[in-house]
Amino acid sequence: MLPLVDLHRHLEGSVRSSTVLDVAERTGHELVRRTAPRAGLVADDKQTGLLPYLDKVDLAIGVLTGLDDWNRAACEAVDDAFDDGLDLLELRFCPGIIAHETGLPAEAVIDAVADGVAAQAAKRRLSVGLIGIVVRHLGAESAGGQMATLLSRRERFCAVDLAGDEANFPAALFAEAFRAAKEAGLHVTIHAGEAAGPESVWDAVRELGAERIGHGVRSAEDPRLMEVLAERGVTLEVSLTSNTQTGAAPSYAEHQIHTLLAAGVPVALCTDNPRASNVRLSQEHRTAIAEVGLTGEQLKTVAEQAVKATFVR
Ligand SMILES: [Zn+2]
Repeated sequence: MLPLVDLHRHLEGSVRSSTVLDVAERTGHELVRRTAPRAGLVADDKQTGLLPYLDKVDLAIGVLTGLDDWNRAACEAVDDAFDDGLDLLELRFCPGIIAHETGLPAEAVIDAVADGVAAQAAKRRLSVGLIGIVVRHLGAESAGGQMATLLSRRERFCAVDLAGDEANFPAALFAEAFRAAKEAGLHVTIHAGEAAGPESVWDAVRELGAERIGHGVRSAEDPRLMEVLAERGVTLEVSLTSNTQTGAAPSYAEHQIHTLLAAGVPVALCTDNPRASNVRLSQEHRTAIAEVGLTGEQLKTVAEQAVKATFVR
């Protein structure tokens, strides 16, 4: 049996549809009056780009307006990982966006999620690390504040991440915020090379000290970059289904993972958003063979790479 380790999974995109609808029912959110509410929460096939895909992730955020809802979502995310047979999970979320959408204090959101994860992880005997996300599209000043909030709960996190509108908010804007995270001893992973090209991955490594890259599939367009990623052991957190849905990869069969592996770039398979993408990690492993066309040996390599690249031990 290969190890099942998911290094890139968003809590917001993991909240079960049933839970979102349950809370929407309780609060009278307009979602329950839609004729096809599930369609707002799950991308069943290719979307018209990253932003429509992210809408499916984000819709859940505005529905979960109570701290108890976030605590419940965190517990269920651990249960779902356990039920899929995971050996280790690194779960990420963005307190800044949750606070922005719900009016809840970001610090209280962090505590509600971290308490839920800690309790359920102990019960399930599953290793779960938390990664705190700063978003790009609220700008550099906001990012400084978002990072300060994460650092005020430093002990809750194993790492920090940068996500959001990659094409319009380059990494250099966030260098100061990520320097503070490094100084606090946190690991760094950065969403890059998904909605923007290889230069965005270069920036993530050079400007922000990224040890891992979220997606990074467009690194395959730059041989020199692939050499550097391979030399430095920077692991790409690749999500086969999500990448296909957002258009970051043309299709399963033509996924950039083939080029990346051939160049010796470390790659780990991840789910990104289990609800929004309608996937499980065990299923992504099967897809890697059946649809993407990896060999059994290649799948073993990426499964082992995920173990090597964990931030939580
Ligand atoms: Zn992501």
